[in-house]
Amino acid sequence: MTDLTAETPHPNTPLTTAKAQLAGAVEILGYTEGLHRMLATPRREMNVAVPLRRDDGEIELFTGYRVQHNISRGPAKGGLRYSAGVDVDEVRALAMWMTWKCAVVDVPYGGAKGGVTIDPRRYSQAELERVTRRYTSEIMPIIGPERDIMAPDVGTNEQTMAWIMDTYSVNRGYTIPAVTTGKPLAVGGSLGRATATSRGVVHTAAAALGDAGVQLREVSAAVQGFGKVGSHAARFLHDAGTRVVAVSDEQGGVMRSDGLDVSALERHVLSTGTVAGFDGGEPIDNSELLALDVDLLIPAAVEGVLDADAAGRVKARWVVEAANGPTTPEGDRVLAERGVVVVPDILANAGGVVVSYFEWVQANQAYWWTEREIEDRLEHRMVTAHRAVAALAGAEGVSLRDAALTIGVRRVAEAHQIRGLYP
Ligand code: GLU
Repeated sequence: MTDLTAETPHPNTPLTTAKAQLAGAVEILGYTEGLHRMLATPRREMNVAVPLRRDDGEIELFTGYRVQHNISRGPAKGGLRYSAGVDVDEVRALAMWMTWKCAVVDVPYGGAKGGVTIDPRRYSQAELERVTRRYTSEIMPIIGPERDIMAPDVGTNEQTMAWIMDTYSVNRGYTIPAVTTGKPLAVGGSLGRATATSRGVVHTAAAALGDAGVQLREVSAAVQGFGKVGSHAARFLHDAGTRVVAVSDEQGGVMRSDGLDVSALERHVLSTGTVAGFDGGEPIDNSELLALDVDLLIPAAVEGVLDADAAGRVKARWVVEAANGPTTPEGDRVLAERGVVVVPDILANAGGVVVSYFEWVQANQAYWWTEREIEDRLEHRMVTAHRAVAALAGAEGVSLRDAALTIGVRRVAEAHQIRGLYP
């Protein structure tokens, strides 16, 4: 029999990490090899060529992917990533994480992810619009509000979702807002969606600290990544009284041990596009940030940053994973040995997909909720999910990651088994 954990090409890719995590949960759950293999294998994948006519008339070609990892609990759901280095294995890993994430917070979705091999910073808005519309048109047969619903991820945003929604709708002949989430408010987006992932990160951080009798206003934090998730997370932590001592992005970072002036930092980012060069602190690089002497570390950028080496230098007591897949399996082991509590991505950053679900429900009903309703329901879902994960971790003596994966994988397997295998 093949060892499912050893099947993947390189050590420490997002896919090896995702597969190793699944293998751990399957062992805890005592599932058979056949069921393990089903859970490890994407249900459906589409690879498409995405040609772009540049503004100067030249033709460039990108590759686009959409991976639907699992649809046992409902329509496939997950973001679309624009990044030069994206490949099908990365998309497979991200799709698998979406499946467990949706199950952990109990939204009735399967998991999916998309990617296009483009660095969006190097292209005009008009070019990005053409790429987005062509990609959407190519994957049209497998998406839709009952089939597969996209949302923003690294390199995409509200505007991307509006273009996808428009392309899909124009081809169907009427407006179908529920085909994407994370849209602008003007075309059926939801209040609270833009900040939802960050709010969820802060709710789970508060809950994890609370389990140790500690409050957010008593701790210091460092946030790696200052994009759609990290920037709002830093703001909400600051508003909750946390001393945010360091932040960073791709171009550099900044630290100030008695706490950064987050409002001044936001103004700096608005005018320069980066946290680097902010004069309200000392420059710091991304790897130094991970090793800072803070209570709470929030990786909010990309996969794999906390490998064994980086994890060995972490001084924080809590790591709350705002990014998808920031910790490798070796990194996890090192953090556990050092007594660091890791709130796993599939729980910590699930606020985004929770409010995506609310957006989809509102779009399907054509009835819009207030911001208060959305934020209260988000908090309730995040805290409920955290409680279930923490309770299982305590009862079984396993990490929060293994507990979250166990809950997520079990819910998916249960749905699959109750439906039965066709034919
Ligand atoms: N891209 C986000 C994630 O990784 C959001 C996905 C969604 O809302 O569908 O969770």
